[in-house]
Amino acid sequence: MIRNNDKVKPSEPLWLLYVEPQDPPSEQPVIDLLTRGMAAALNASEPYGDVTRGFHVCSCGAHSDNVEHKLPTGDITNSLAVHYLAYHRKELVGEQLGYVLALVRFCLDRGGLKEADPTPEQLQKPQPRPLHQVISDYHREASRKRAKPVLLQPIADDKDITCDEEYDE
Ligand SMILES: [Zn+2]
Repeated sequence: MIRNNDKVKPSEPLWLLYVEPQDPPSEQPVIDLLTRGMAAALNASEPYGDVTRGFHVCSCGAHSDNVEHKLPTGDITNSLAVHYLAYHRKELVGEQLGYVLALVRFCLDRGGLKEADPTPEQLQKPQPRPLHQVISDYHREASRKRAKPVLLQPIADDKDITCDEEYDE
């Protein structure tokens, strides 16, 4: 956890929240200081670099705009930053959240920004998945669990090796 606001401004810009969530999004968005502070920071951001960098697409289907965003601290993020904080909070590791908190504190305490309600475009509420996708996700998850590696034990030379177990499939 970063405690001292005076020491959080990094000299190199950070590329924040370029993440690839694997789990389904939470049903309800987490709208707290981090989400509202990031919304404020994104509102005050400037486009950074080429506009043709392409889209970031989240595993839940949410997609970013086609430009990186330079935040008031000089750090870079993408327009899904608010979405990740709101719907994929539990997958963000502590270090990421520590940087986001430092960024938000800097913007609010020293940058003069006010917390902002995230816009629908920033939130990108996940849409219910069609049934066939839910089913194919289920099968993929099930086969991933089945495919756990099995530790093989050495077999003593004098032991009879029989193969009387039936295969599951
Ligand atoms: Zn998502």
